[in-house]
Amino acid sequence: MTNDVGGGEARGEAQGGVVPDGSAPDGALYPDSDLYQFADLMTEAERAEILRLRTVLQTHLPPEFLAEGWERGECPVDALEPLAQGDFMEPAALGESGASWLFQGFRSFELARHDASVATWYNGQASLFRSNVEVGGSPEQVAEWGPRVVDFSLRGVFALTEPDHGSDIAGGLATVARREGETWVIDGAKRWIGSAAYADRICVIARDVTGIDHVTGSDDGGGTAGGAAARGRAGDGDAASRPTGRPTVRAFLVPRTAEGVTVEKIPHKAALRMVNNGHITLESVVVSEADRLHGVDTFADVAAMLRQMRATVAWQAAGLQAGAFEAARKYVLSRQQFGRPLGGFQLVQEKLSRMLGNVASTLGLCVRLAQRQDAGVFEEAESALAKREACRHMRETVALAREVCGGNGITLETDVARFHADAEALYTYEGTDDINALVVGRAITGLSAFAR
Ligand SMILES: Cc1cc2nc3c(=O)[nH]c(=O)nc-3n(C[C@H](O)[C@H](O)[C@H](O)COP(=O)(O)OP(=O)(O)OC[C@H]3O[C@@H](n4cnc5c(N)ncnc54)[C@H](O)[C@@H]3O)c2cc1C
Repeated sequence: MTNDVGGGEARGEAQGGVVPDGSAPDGALYPDSDLYQFADLMTEAERAEILRLRTVLQTHLPPEFLAEGWERGECPVDALEPLAQGDFMEPAALGESGASWLFQGFRSFELARHDASVATWYNGQASLFRSNVEVGGSPEQVAEWGPRVVDFSLRGVFALTEPDHGSDIAGGLATVARREGETWVIDGAKRWIGSAAYADRICVIARDVTGIDHVTGSDDGGGTAGGAAARGRAGDGDAASRPTGRPTVRAFLVPRTAEGVTVEKIPHKAALRMVNNGHITLESVVVSEADRLHGVDTFADVAAMLRQMRATVAWQAAGLQAGAFEAARKYVLSRQQFGRPLGGFQLVQEKLSRMLGNVASTLGLCVRLAQRQDAGVFEEAESALAKREACRHMRETVALAREVCGGNGITLETDVARFHADAEALYTYEGTDDINALVVGRAITGLSAFAR
């Protein structure tokens, strides 16, 4: 981190940026926002891949372009393509060992530090849909679809949330699937599904009502203190498995163009305006048994997917606040009031310290979580707590960043306004603050408090 005001402005231009020879300034990936240099825990090859990603972001999605796209509320599908085609999910340069969770975490950090809509778009495929296939698929399905998810030749989205069920989706799942021979018929609706309009497949989570009158029969489990919910494995709001052990929940890779599928863009959003969120209706949609993910039988299987997704959102929250902090730092070093840079005032420095502390705390949590993931031992409560804490820190950081930029902090020119608005979506998706608190609370006490 630079400590000279005079050099700070010039440094602000290059901060965290790529110098002409492609290396990071000072050899650190994030000289201004990663005080403890957590990024050094990556291998040299991983750090080089993050720099390569940065170059693609700066070349194809520069901040001015993002600000325009944000204002228009349109997804820049063409400009995002170099990211999809850039071999960032399992980079060849990382060789046999593949992409560690730590690398994947910093990839999300880098993306969100640049822009949260871009990060959300990328992770719709790299985290949500990839988790659907790799956690929910049978070994044969993972072998068939996994590589196509990684190279973006099969694009998909995760459709869990419904118009009438968000936080209580586990017990409230109203989209139903009924088996008819070798096919399934799906009816229902899904809401908020990111990038659904561009997907090849929509991963629809539905309640299995085969042999049940779904109008009158409510044989859908509900959390039980003695069941998987009590062991912290059922996911938000219960409904692990029926006492009979009969499958309750199914997941299907529904072709977006299947008859009976309608995707409408949700208009008038005030956050993540470049992400096209879809309202999906499914009317007597017929899919084959082969398009069902064979590893999903209960909501506990969906919870295993959410566990991975929440870790990704925690990293995004770390990156988003780093982006806001860096933009605010740049601003207060150049803006003069009372004859000196804003950054020279004690009150402003206190706010900068708080922001940097939030980023450092969040990164520490995320890095440890990634290490646990890489060791294959991380629990549901760990990712829920990380998501929650990361988003709490993020919310304070973006508010302070916006504050120190004054009036200019509410224009898109300073970048902080974009980060500030987008933070609210991250705070809510993949389980709200309250719901992740309840996931952690259940792990602490063994008692489910969702419906009380
Ligand atoms: C931009 C964006 C992108 C999204 N992308 C996707 C996607 O790709 N796929 C997908 O499936 N979903 C997606 N979602 C949906 C998201 O996961 C839900 O919005 C979220 O789970 C909250 O549900 P809800 O909006 O219905 O809020 P609600 O459940 O109605 O909650 C409203 C408020 O009540 C609180 N609350 C609810 N229950 C309790 C309780 N028991 N105790 C205390 N407080 C409670 C909540 O914490 C919240 O503050 C997205 C959402 C957004 C905003």
